[in-house]
Amino acid sequence: MKFGGTSLGDASRIRQVAGLISKRSDCFVICSAMSGVTNTLVDVAGYWKSGNNGQARELISGLREHFKQTCCELFDDDEATTIATGIVNDHFGRVMDRLVTGYSIHNENWLLARGEIITSEIIAHYLNSIDIPVTWLNALDFTVTGSDGEPSVDDMRQRLERLTGEKPAGRFLTQGYICLDHQGNVTNLRRGGSDYTATLAGAALQAGIIEIWTDIDGVRNNDPRIVEDTFPIRELSFDEAAELAYFGAKILHPSCVWPASSNGIPIHLKNTMEPDAPGTIIRSGTQRKGITAVAAKEGITIIRIRSDRMLNAYGFLSRVFAIFEKYETPIDVITTSEVSVSVTVDKDSRLEEIEEELSALGKVRVQSGQAIVCVVGDILEQHQGRAVRILDSLRHFNVKMISYGGSRNNITVVVPREEVVDILRSLNSFLFGSPSKTIEPCLISQV
Ligand code: ASP
Ligand code: MG
Repeated sequence: MKFGGTSLGDASRIRQVAGLISKRSDCFVICSAMSGVTNTLVDVAGYWKSGNNGQARELISGLREHFKQTCCELFDDDEATTIATGIVNDHFGRVMDRLVTGYSIHNENWLLARGEIITSEIIAHYLNSIDIPVTWLNALDFTVTGSDGEPSVDDMRQRLERLTGEKPAGRFLTQGYICLDHQGNVTNLRRGGSDYTATLAGAALQAGIIEIWTDIDGVRNNDPRIVEDTFPIRELSFDEAAELAYFGAKILHPSCVWPASSNGIPIHLKNTMEPDAPGTIIRSGTQRKGITAVAAKEGITIIRIRSDRMLNAYGFLSRVFAIFEKYETPIDVITTSEVSVSVTVDKDSRLEEIEEELSALGKVRVQSGQAIVCVVGDILEQHQGRAVRILDSLRHFNVKMISYGGSRNNITVVVPREEVVDILRSLNSFLFGSPSKTIEPCLISQV
């Protein structure tokens, strides 16, 4: 069971979560940091880095008070409250001590890990104090990335076995997101990474099911901030979930599908506010004949490389991709013609260097301010013409790239970001038959 930050956002939410955990006698619980905490720690790190320790200290004090306040509201008896506030003071004392040792990336990562450690310690203490026994585990003892920076299910399994025995029984509670790197430094699985810890642990423990508890009722078929009549998708295949995860990092961390899919363990997305609602179940073997969902992502840049040397040449694409690899910039959508290749990226911090090196291969054109829109579902198989009809419905939009045939589950187009609201609404009425009512125009924040 993984609980996200908002599900642990205040004392009453933590009580709700405790109720859910109490119903399971055997479970492995992963906690995020309380909502807002990691964001604040990121800000603290920013001030620390720029030498502004005064501001950093102020934010840290605010966080400490927030945790203490939550403890006072959460615990009923004085002794338990004193222990909890002691935990908080102890951690923040150490944070203040670190601050004076100066900024380094190792110190930053150490700091970012505090959010999950403090939150999970408080919750474990709370559960034990109300007679729901749990064993607290330190995720740094079993989440360790390899020299490639990636965690592995086998490694986690071996480490967990050493900690909990081969067939652990009872309740365990630990942190998501945080890990050690192969040299033993504290690091993390990137923002939102608790989902990833959850599916890795689910796979390592060969769990019956991986429950991801958030505050929304599962995945929706379209963006509810833009389209009014969206509906929840009750069942998704792993392939569809993997396609959608990139767009909905707010729902599911993009990397978190593979540990579950490769081990055949279903993921159940559930809502802590409505625990009896069906949520969304992601598993293999779901048979679908229709279109499942539409999703969009803004903040996309198109890079086009045109070169006559590409014609009949081999190795051209590998030279292009090597440059993106060198600057650690993932490529998302790709289209090629005989003499040109267009790719999209959502990370633009190394764009200038990339552009310069690409210029040695051909003529380069960069267009920022774009958006990716994808349609996920059964697009290819047994549905002749479905892709053509979808594209035809987009004839009034300024479609700049089309990716089709990469998987049977996806057709993707790239359009200027100003067209996202209209394209999502138009696809909604075309695909799901609902004449989407106009709601306040809005911009989707970049996920
Ligand atoms: N607390 C971390 C974050 O906010 C990890 C997570 O919640 O998944 O990104
Ligand atoms: Mg999250």
